[in-house]
Amino acid sequence: MSSARILGQAIIGLAAQTVEIEATISNGLPQLNIVGMSENRAKQSRERVRSAIEHAGFKLPDRRIVINLAPSDVPKEHAGFDLPIALSILIASQQLEAARFNDLCAMGELSLTGEIRAVPGLLIAALACEERGLTLLQANQVQTGRQATLSAGLGIHHLSDLKLPLRSMTALKLDKNEEPTIPRPGLDDIKGQQTAKRALIIAATGGHHLLLFGPPGSGKTMLAKRILGLMAPLTEQEAVEIACIQSVAAGTFPGRMLERPFREVHHSTSAAALIGGGSPPRPGEITLAHLGVLLLDELPEFTHAVLNQLRQPLESGSIDLSRAHYKVRFPAKFQLIAAMNPCPCGWLGSRRPCRCSVEHITRYRNRVSGPILDRIDLQVEVPALDPKIFFREPPMRHQDEHEIAIDQIQQARAFRLQRLQTTPQPDDKDALDPGAKRLLMQAAQTLHFSARAIQKLIRVGRTIADLDCTANISPRHLEEALVLRQT
Ligand SMILES: [Zn+2]
Repeated sequence: MSSARILGQAIIGLAAQTVEIEATISNGLPQLNIVGMSENRAKQSRERVRSAIEHAGFKLPDRRIVINLAPSDVPKEHAGFDLPIALSILIASQQLEAARFNDLCAMGELSLTGEIRAVPGLLIAALACEERGLTLLQANQVQTGRQATLSAGLGIHHLSDLKLPLRSMTALKLDKNEEPTIPRPGLDDIKGQQTAKRALIIAATGGHHLLLFGPPGSGKTMLAKRILGLMAPLTEQEAVEIACIQSVAAGTFPGRMLERPFREVHHSTSAAALIGGGSPPRPGEITLAHLGVLLLDELPEFTHAVLNQLRQPLESGSIDLSRAHYKVRFPAKFQLIAAMNPCPCGWLGSRRPCRCSVEHITRYRNRVSGPILDRIDLQVEVPALDPKIFFREPPMRHQDEHEIAIDQIQQARAFRLQRLQTTPQPDDKDALDPGAKRLLMQAAQTLHFSARAIQKLIRVGRTIADLDCTANISPRHLEEALVLRQT
């Protein structure tokens, strides 16, 4: 009896676990048995491996072959075990030399003719292998866009490439430093809407969630998209996190460059599509929006069941999915932008007549009250644009408006960083100056603010003070914070 073992990687959520693939060849009736993975996957893999070995110019031994994948209780929910299974058979039958494949881990799906295909999670496996001092033998990723530059290991195209010396295979290197260079549309090409633009600047600086409400066609979605151009550039760590999510989501490569994601979710989206799930577990929209923006357009049209699913991620920045045979945690730290009309017909407060009854309007707005609205710091009206403004020449060169905003945000970030270095865990409440304290108390009494609402006001006031580069929150900062929560 001869045997061989080779390593593979199972992907569970956004983590990789090493799996040992062991092949034994013994005398007996010719057969190929795979144990340690689901029966259905084993059956499919067996057919692909059998056919690929023959087509690649190797020979499937006419003996009894048993493949065992261990540990058996780790879910092996991808087709990437084809390659290590084939490799273990070829080593056990002495068609390939075992010593060449020490410290190597293999992952790739085989086609019937022996081509090697990428599988979801390849990048996660590559990063895990690098950490564990292994080299990943994998499908060549050059064609799949950005992920290529983030992959590490040896790329091979075809099972017959295994006959070549390993040195001659394409070495894929890990390059995490690429900066996004795609220019994002700025604030410059939006006419008017000064309040909304200011709210975007504040939201981008302090990471506040934002609600935009206004009639259809007032540019709420267009405004929401502009926040990407105001957010901080991705750090190396963030770029890797986003790439890993895209790696398991498979097929959602954004192109050559990696950027903060912007996910626009329609109200017909199911709770499962929003939070993720399935087998193997796939990230949902909230995870695909991680470190970027999640836009919920027409917020009142979302069902309570769907909105309730957002509570945990808004609180903790992650989502736990547990099913019968797995438990995974996906990151979901997104900036929420919600958009809604002021009334069911959309025209309340604009020049067009609104046909909605008071009762209808109240019911419509009540649909979004509660847990979600409670977590949105900034609530801003986006009125229909006055045609006069539309045709008016801009007061300054467009480019300048965006550049000034970027400068302001960068200064505010630097100021906050410095502020946090001197007092590591400051209570924002302590930064209120006496005048601001008085104003807050008056506002809380007359407007019946809850403790949470007061806290939100202080948070927004803190960000506005940072934009002013002042340590204290003054009445002026709080006044602006009050204006920016109109509902
Ligand atoms: Zn109406």
